Amino acid sequence: MSTYPSLIHLPQRSYRRIATEEAFSPPEMLDIYNKILAKGDVDVGFKHLMGFYMSSPSERAQHIMRCLVDLDDLRLQHMDEAGVDVQVIGLTSPGVQIMDKDTAVSFAPVANDILAAAMRRHPDRLVGMIAVAPQDPAAAAKEIQRGVNQLNMHSVVINSHTQGEYLSDTKFWPIFEAAEAMDTPIYLHPNAMPASMIQHFIEAGLDGAIYGFGVETGLHALRLITSGVFDRFPKLQIILGHMGEALPFWAYRLDYMHAATVKSKRYPSIQPTKKKPSDYLRENFHITNSGVAWGAALKFTQDFMGPDRVLYAMDYPYQYAPEEVAILENLDMAPQVRKAFFQDNAERLFKIPPASNAI
Ligand code: CA
Repeated sequence: MSTYPSLIHLPQRSYRRIATEEAFSPPEMLDIYNKILAKGDVDVGFKHLMGFYMSSPSERAQHIMRCLVDLDDLRLQHMDEAGVDVQVIGLTSPGVQIMDKDTAVSFAPVANDILAAAMRRHPDRLVGMIAVAPQDPAAAAKEIQRGVNQLNMHSVVINSHTQGEYLSDTKFWPIFEAAEAMDTPIYLHPNAMPASMIQHFIEAGLDGAIYGFGVETGLHALRLITSGVFDRFPKLQIILGHMGEALPFWAYRLDYMHAATVKSKRYPSIQPTKKKPSDYLRENFHITNSGVAWGAALKFTQDFMGPDRVLYAMDYPYQYAPEEVAILENLDMAPQVRKAFFQDNAERLFKIPPASNAI
C-alpha cells in the first residue's frame, strides 16, 4: 500500500502500524494564534510553545510547521517512509484552549470539519480525534456528539489544562458525561504549563516536552483520580502519552501516600475514593509510548497496565523519528502482544475499521 519506500528495514508483518498521538494544525488556527501572540499580555507558556515554533528559523521548527498543516502528500510520504499505516490525529496543543471562549467554541467545529474532510480523502490512512472547547462544557459535550454522529470520529483530544483550569473541577464534568455516554476515550495530551507553575521550569529550560509537559499532564491525570472523576464516571477512558507521563512508575507510592493522606484528613481535596489510584490507572486509562522508544519502559508499562492497554504512537511531527519504528519492532515481544501494541488496541479503542485493502 506504500507509495514511498521505507527508509529503514522493517520485518514482514501481518498487522497495521497505527500511530495514535499524531498532530495537525489548520492554517486558520495559526492565524488565530498569530493574533493572540501579537497581544501584549500573552500567556508565557503559549509564547514559549507555539510562539517558538511559529517564529523560529531553526530547521526543526520549520519542518514541524510544514508537517503540522499538511494532511495530504507530505504526511502520507512521511508515514510511508516510517512504515506507519494509519495516524490517529489530534488538534495540536494547545488547540482552541488558549482562545477566548467564543472563538474557541466556534473554531473547534471548524477544525474538526477540516480533519473530517482529510479522513474522507484518505480513509485508510487518517483517523481523527474530536477537538472541543472546555471553556464551554455544554458546547464541548455537543461537539463530542456531533463528532461521533456526523464526522465518524470516536475519540476526543484535550490538551491538558485550559488557561490554568483543570478538568477535576466539577464544572467540566458534562464533558466526561458526554464522553462516557458516547464511548469516546479522551486523549489527555500535554499543554504548556500554566503561568502559576512554569517559571522554575523555564529558567532551567525544562518546561517543554523534555520534562515539564509530563509533569503537568501527569498532575492533571492524578487530579482526575483524586477528585473522584472515575467513581462518578466508571466507564470513562483517558489516554495518556509518553509512557503514561511516568505514572505507572509512581503507582506504588501513589497508593501508599494516597491512603495515608485520606486517613490523616490533611487536605479537603483528598477524600476517600472507591479504589486505589493504581486501580484507576489500570481500569480507566490507556497509555501510548509516544516519544519513548525504549524497551525497558515499554515492558514495565505493559506489565503494569496489561498489554491490551498500551498502544503505539510516534508523536508526529514533533518527534518524526522513523528509526524508532525499527527499534520497537526489534524488541523481544510475543507476537500477539506486538500485534496488540501496533494494531489491535488502537482498532478497538478508536473504533477503526479493518483496512479496505488488507495488508
Ligand atoms: Ca504530541
